[in-house]
Amino acid sequence: MSKVKIIPCSGIGKVFGLMSREAVLQVTNNLSPDTAETVCLAYIVTGDDSAREKVEGCTCVTVDGCPALCSAKSVEQSGGIVKAKYRVVDEMRNHKGVNAGTGTALTEDGWKIVDELAEKISAKVAELIEEEKVNV
Ligand code: SF4
Repeated sequence: MSKVKIIPCSGIGKVFGLMSREAVLQVTNNLSPDTAETVCLAYIVTGDDSAREKVEGCTCVTVDGCPALCSAKSVEQSGGIVKAKYRVVDEMRNHKGVNAGTGTALTEDGWKIVDELAEKISAKVAELIEEEKVNV
């Protein structure tokens, strides 16, 4: 069974973009390394063949910073099957008024929100893997 592809947006210079990338790295490096992997969104967007092959027809989860949904849209356009779409902006609604940091550095509170989001994504990965086992 192939790993679930988790693709963060590339919101460079924006705190929500940084949070999406850090949450995905926590999932792929620490929480679900055997069942999830990431793919570089920039490669997908530029039409790189190997990046496209990695998502085409595959179970994907996207993690975007804001409602522009750059990752979700690009992955779908490349043929990825997006089973879940997360947005950091939604996570922030549960933490109104919290200073999460900047586009280059997160605060302690920002890291806590990243941890929460990473746990949610990891739980979703486990769910999707179980679903695929049932449907094989
Ligand atoms: S989803 Fe929002 S934060 Fe992420 S790359 Fe697009 S515009 Fe930037």
